Amino acid sequence: MVGIGIANEVTGRMLTNADIGELLWNAGREEPGHRRRALERASRAARFWPEETHQLVDAGRSLTELPAVGPWVATKIHAWLDDPPPVPEPEESRRGFLTYAEVRRTLDADPQREANPSADLQVHTTFSDGGLPLDDMVAAARSLGRPYVAITDHSQTLTIANGMTPEELAEQGRAIDAIDRRFQDDGDPFRVLRAIEVDVFPDGGLDMDDESLASLDLVLGAFHSKLRSTADETARYLAALRQPRLHVLAHPKARMYGRRVGLVADWRRVFAEAARLGKALELDATVWRQDLNVELAELARSEGVRWFSIGSDAHSSSELEFLPFGMAIAALAGIPREQILNYRPVDFVRSWARAMPATTRDRS
Ligand SMILES: [Zn+2]
Repeated sequence: MVGIGIANEVTGRMLTNADIGELLWNAGREEPGHRRRALERASRAARFWPEETHQLVDAGRSLTELPAVGPWVATKIHAWLDDPPPVPEPEESRRGFLTYAEVRRTLDADPQREANPSADLQVHTTFSDGGLPLDDMVAAARSLGRPYVAITDHSQTLTIANGMTPEELAEQGRAIDAIDRRFQDDGDPFRVLRAIEVDVFPDGGLDMDDESLASLDLVLGAFHSKLRSTADETARYLAALRQPRLHVLAHPKARMYGRRVGLVADWRRVFAEAARLGKALELDATVWRQDLNVELAELARSEGVRWFSIGSDAHSSSELEFLPFGMAIAALAGIPREQILNYRPVDFVRSWARAMPATTRDRS
């Protein structure tokens, strides 16, 4: 195991919240019962702390201001800050995730990234596995200042997520049209896109009929099965991207913090194909996904991928606030605002998607 801690000692750098999170996690391994749970809770909470712990301490503030930090955990963190121990390299499934403190630093240095209008292009409702009904989720996104939102519930094969049948998708479409008409009648510029997160089968096929998909403003496709495969899955990605109805490949690597490293592929080939077909890649902003991560997003950009889409992947109103994680990934990967669909007007996104099937058909 490579010791990052050596780098600490050489540079004398301060422990970051990511370091503190790892130390809390590892300390939890050595504690029984409720103490372990307290350390694990604090470790997860560290992903969301908006400031670095050493900044709080320098400012004379108490660490117990932070969520999930009580006096006992605060004492541990103080001891680590005073005399930084080596921080072991996190296991692979916990590597390459931004903390909210890093997100804040990145976006505060580049405020245009959070300036409105910036839409949210992946949101779930009770039509599949979201916690809030359509109307409430739309209202929550609007209250955050989003100019429009894409409603992207799951398709039926994903039974664990209560996925939609074609009939349910059509019903949702009528409900979205009614909401949109209400905004128009009220002179409110907010809009709702009819979209989906359609399941992409391991052979690249889509879990929804062509006619239903053709009726939508935007089609996100994502893998949800055989995600623990360690084989090279390049063919799966190429088949998915070549689906004429698919506009955005959502959470491409399908990793999950602490649980799953995601799929393996020849990313240069995958990204070159996305570039050739004009497809968008998602920067899924859910804290536990961050997919693509900064490194892969940078590679995608350098391989010529033209379009990116950021989605909070929110399943509750509070998760709508994950969006900045995706914005920060884009900023750190050097993806210009112009290449990110979220910053474009809603009509641009609609016509961009409409132009897609023709583009894909034209391929040799
Ligand atoms: Zn998904």
